[in-house]
Formats: sequence, C-alpha cells, structure tokens
Amino acid sequence: MINRRGVLRAGTVGALGTGMVGLLSPPAAAAPPAEAVERVSRRDWARLADALSPRSTLYLPVDSGYPPLALPFNHRYAGIRPAGIVACATTGDAREAIRWARSVGLPAVPRSGLGHNYAGYSATTGLLLNMARMKRIVSAPLPGARSRTRSYGPIKVTHGAGTVTVGAGVTNADLHPLLEDLGRFVPTGRCPTVGVAGLVLGGGIGFSDKMFGLTCDRLVSTTVVLADGRVVEASQDAHPDLFWGCRGGAGNNFGVHTSFTFQYEQFQGNVGFYQLRWSLDSVLPVLATAQRIAVNTLHDKRFHLRVGIGTHGTTRDQIHANANVNAIGQYYGPLDGLLAILAPLLAIGTAEERAGNSASVREVTPGQASVLLSATTPVEKFAAKSAVLHSRTLLTDEQVGAAAERLLDWPGSDNPDGAGFAMFALGGEINQVPSGATAFVHRNGVFILAAETSWADYDPPCVATANLHWLREFYHDIYGDTPPRDSYQNFPDPTLKDWRRAYYGANYDRLVRVKRKYDPTDFFSYPQGIGS
Ligand SMILES: Cc1cc2nc3c(=O)[nH]c(=O)nc-3n(C[C@H](O)[C@H](O)[C@H](O)COP(=O)(O)OP(=O)(O)OC[C@H]3O[C@@H](n4cnc5c(N)ncnc54)[C@H](O)[C@@H]3O)c2cc1C
Repeated sequence: MINRRGVLRAGTVGALGTGMVGLLSPPAAAAPPAEAVERVSRRDWARLADALSPRSTLYLPVDSGYPPLALPFNHRYAGIRPAGIVACATTGDAREAIRWARSVGLPAVPRSGLGHNYAGYSATTGLLLNMARMKRIVSAPLPGARSRTRSYGPIKVTHGAGTVTVGAGVTNADLHPLLEDLGRFVPTGRCPTVGVAGLVLGGGIGFSDKMFGLTCDRLVSTTVVLADGRVVEASQDAHPDLFWGCRGGAGNNFGVHTSFTFQYEQFQGNVGFYQLRWSLDSVLPVLATAQRIAVNTLHDKRFHLRVGIGTHGTTRDQIHANANVNAIGQYYGPLDGLLAILAPLLAIGTAEERAGNSASVREVTPGQASVLLSATTPVEKFAAKSAVLHSRTLLTDEQVGAAAERLLDWPGSDNPDGAGFAMFALGGEINQVPSGATAFVHRNGVFILAAETSWADYDPPCVATANLHWLREFYHDIYGDTPPRDSYQNFPDPTLKDWRRAYYGANYDRLVRVKRKYDPTDFFSYPQGIGS
C-alpha cells in the first residue's frame, strides 16, 4: 500500500501563476519570418497550383478544405497555421512543392497520418505537405525458397514472406486489412491513426517488436525527395548512409519520404492476449513483478508487455477512484506458456481483480489481437516525457510510490485520457541489432517509459498550465535531478535540453554527417532537428 498524501492539492489549477503561460505557446516545427510569408504573391501560389498533379490540391486559408488539414492531431499546436497546404498525391507533387517552397523562401514540412508529433514538429507557418492522399499499398510475396516457416504454439509464422510497399499517407489502421484478410503482418505501433511515415522514421515500438523487430528494422527501402528536388531510393545497396539515418533518425531531417517498403510476415493461427487491471493499492507489487518478468523474458521474443499507471477525471474523488495500475500484451506461443509467465501478476490483487485478470488471458486471432491492443490515446491536447530504462535503472519501490502519490495529485482536466505513465517492454529482436547498425540507438533497454498528461480543447489555459507543471513534477518525483540519459525520439519533449544525446546517443555525429550530405543547407529544420 502506498503512503498517500493526506491533503490533496485541491485548487492547484487556480493557484498556479501566469509565469508558465509561455509553455503554452510552443514553437512551430519551422516558422519563417512573417515577412517571408507576406512576400509570397498570388502569382507565386498560382505557380505552385499549376505545377501539381491533377489529384493533388493546394489549400490556402480561405479555402473550405483548409481547416481540417491545418489542424494537427495534438491540438496543443492548433494555433500554428500553415501559409498553404499541398495535399500531395504523387512523389512529383512533393518534389514540386519543395522546389517551390525553396524558391519563395518558405520551409516545407511534411505531415503524414494526422500529425501525431508530440512536440508539434509537423506544424509550420510555412508550407505544409500533407501526405494523407498517398495511401497505396502493394504487397509482393517472395518465392518460398527465401522465407522460412516456424510454429510458435498455436501460430505458424512465415518469416520474410514478402514485401509490402506503402505510400507516405498510410496509417497503422490502413495496414490492418492486410492482416485480417491475408494474414500479412508488418509490426507497427498501438495507435491506428499514427502515420507509418513518422513511426518508422523514429523507430516504431509496438506489441510485436520483440518478436519481429521495430518497424524501422523491417524497412527494406524508401523513396525520398531531397531538399534540392532530387528523388532517391535509399536501401542497403543505394545511398546506404541515408538508409541508415532513416531507420531511427526521426522524421523531417533528410527529405520527404513518399513510400516505404517493408518485409512482412505471413501468419496462420492464433496468439495469446491478456489485459490486466488493479486498483492503485497494488501498484508496488505489480510494478516490481512486471519489471522482474520483463527482465526474465528479455530474450524471450514471444512475450510482449506494456505496464503502467493512470487516472482521469475532474474532481479529487474521480481522480482517486479512477487511479489504477494496468498491463496489456500478447504472446506468440501456447496459452499455458503465457499463463506461466503471467502467474506472479495474476496472483496480485483482490479476489475480484484476480478473477477478472485471469479471465482476460485467452487465445485470439492476430487480427482480433491487433484490435484489442489498439488505442488512440491521448487525444486533443497532450504532452509527454520519456525515458529508456536499462536493467540497472528499473524503477524502485520508492520511485513507483512517488509516482503513484503524484498521480493522485493530478490537477485534472476534461480530457478522458487523463494522465499517468506507460512502460513498453523491449528486448528480443530489438536488442539483437547492434546500436550503431541503424540510427535507432536504444538497443539494450528493458523498457521505454512515457509519462503523459492530457487536457481538452475547451479546458481553460490555467488547466493546461497546471497539467504541464504536473508532468514536470511527476517526472521529477520519479527521477529527481538525475533523469535517465536516454529518451525515445518518437516521443519528443521540446523542453529536453540534452536531446541530441538522449535521442541518438553515439549515433548523433554520424546523423549530422548524413544530414550535411543530403540536406547541406538545412532546409528541413526544426528545434530538435539533426544538426540544429
Ligand atoms: C496517440 C499516439 C499513440 C502513439 N503510439 C505509438 C506507438 O505505439 N509506438 C510508437 O513507436 N510511437 C507511438 N506514438 C508516437 C509516434 O510514433 C510519433 O508521434 C510519430 O512521429 C507519428 O508519426 P505521424 O506520421 O503520424 O506524425 P507526424 O506528426 O505527421 O510526423 C512526425 C514527424 O515526422 C515528420 N514526417 C511526417 N511524414 C513524413 C514524411 N513523409 N517524410 C519525412 N518526414 C515526415 C514530420 O514532419 C514530423 O517531424 C504515438 C503517438 C501518439 C500521439
């Protein structure tokens, strides 16, 4: 049982001063001076529209199609309004848009999916390249000789069964029918609306990565429009330095990607699924046990785990009542193997919790698992701080207790996603790849931890201020003044000072060399961009 604070800070929201308001106006990904935007004439815009393919559209702020495309998924950055938006339909559209933007002195910033970037780096006051129309998915099975089939309990997997090429506008959800209808699977993340582009460029963690590698580990080649308008295909054989940088170097650093080719797996049969939940009273045994399991199964690539704490609500009573500790995941193996791994977790909690948790462990089709594991949280407005945990930096009872206490202090908001942290287990195939083999450096971790908070569009600014303040305190309560050195580049934190080291470690200098070679004028640039 954790030592809860007797007096909760009701009224925290109102008590915070206006000194933090600056935090509410984060910088855009790329913001040209206002004069640069004003200098772009109607004739310039017409020239851009003329250069685009018939299926592409240029939207200006006066157009009715502009508002939904201008709005990023994280509404925190909704105030950053692009001067114009090109809905690209072809690689040629991206090339023309980049050339045009250079000629008029505006930045061009790509956005795939709905613009999920935590730090608003797919928002700009320059030219936004919306890639959502590039939805083509083409899969090509490979002749049997080069693939190998293995059984893992109730599932048979043909490894390296073929390739699938996706347009830059494809989201995780767009890949789902491939799995449902054909049993073809590419490992992606949890959120259906996240774009494959941003996901793969920063790494891509999910519920299959220990078994099949990160999304970026499945990449075979990618088409990139460079800042000078050249279109290149990057792979192990062509532009291998660029290909290296595109696997974990994060989006919007080297060019605009218009397609990605991945190796897929062919599935037949079922997987094991589980979803567990306890009241916060069990936070210490659950976190200690889950971390022990993650260490013991670090090399068992079949077992996937996400464990976390969270709450939501607007009143103290709701925040207390909803506070919980939870775990979810899947297993590529027989159900008794999964039950054996989970046994110490299934023994924790009240009789009711234990019964509910045991009942959740079951065999499902990979398609059902993909739906059960998916969640689009957080939504509306949110912020995160992340950390990569190694075997020597796992959370102690003191850290977990401090986090749980602070969770009960969450100032609240109207966003039903609330706040908390989630820990995604690493290991397996992820950690088999040497840390310098791709730009994704975090190859010897046990977990990636994401601490998050969220608030709603119509919450007043003081609620946003209080939430951002709370997130800093929450993280500080866990780590004090010595936070872990490593952080996940796909959960970017604009307040992180040593982000070069945190996101890229020893790979950073090499990334800068790739940047100088492929984007020597730093056309693709944002506050935490490579080389900035
Ligand atoms: C609700 C939610 C759930 C998430 N779940 C997971 C998860 O399970 N696993 C995980 O690993 N991550 C997850 N993330 C993080 C996610 O991987 C990153 O936010 C990712 O960058 C999103 O990619 P996007 O294309 O949707 O976003 P965008 O905001 O469009 O792009 C992200 C960055 O990439 C750049 N970019 C976009 N398209 C291109 C392109 N075609 N060429 C070059 N650069 C481009 C953008 O300019 C921006 O800098 C989640 C994020 C959210 C908000």
